[in-house]
Amino acid sequence: MSGLELVPVLLGFGLAGGIVGRIKGSSFVVWFLISALVPLIGLLSAICYRFENQELRRQCPGCSRVLKLHDALCTSCGTELEFPDLAIAPEASMGRARGAPGSGG
Ligand SMILES: [Zn+2]
Repeated sequence: MSGLELVPVLLGFGLAGGIVGRIKGSSFVVWFLISALVPLIGLLSAICYRFENQELRRQCPGCSRVLKLHDALCTSCGTELEFPDLAIAPEASMGRARGAPGSGG
């Protein structure tokens, strides 16, 4: 079969991957290219791609670096981390909670 027939198929995969990536807060163009160049695998990775900015975070007790909740080791100072009692709100939910209550006099 000719390569021309593949073009609309690849474009379809690219669009699907791009849209999925965009919904998840990533780049449409990047996922469009990945899905178009490696159809199926690219689209699958777009779907499996985590919501990067909606993940819970926590702070390293050693160096105060903010890490992903599921990290077992601090990427900065190498402290071994236990699963925390307290998680930091994901980046996506920040920004709304502005405005400190009360005003000091
Ligand atoms: Zn650390």
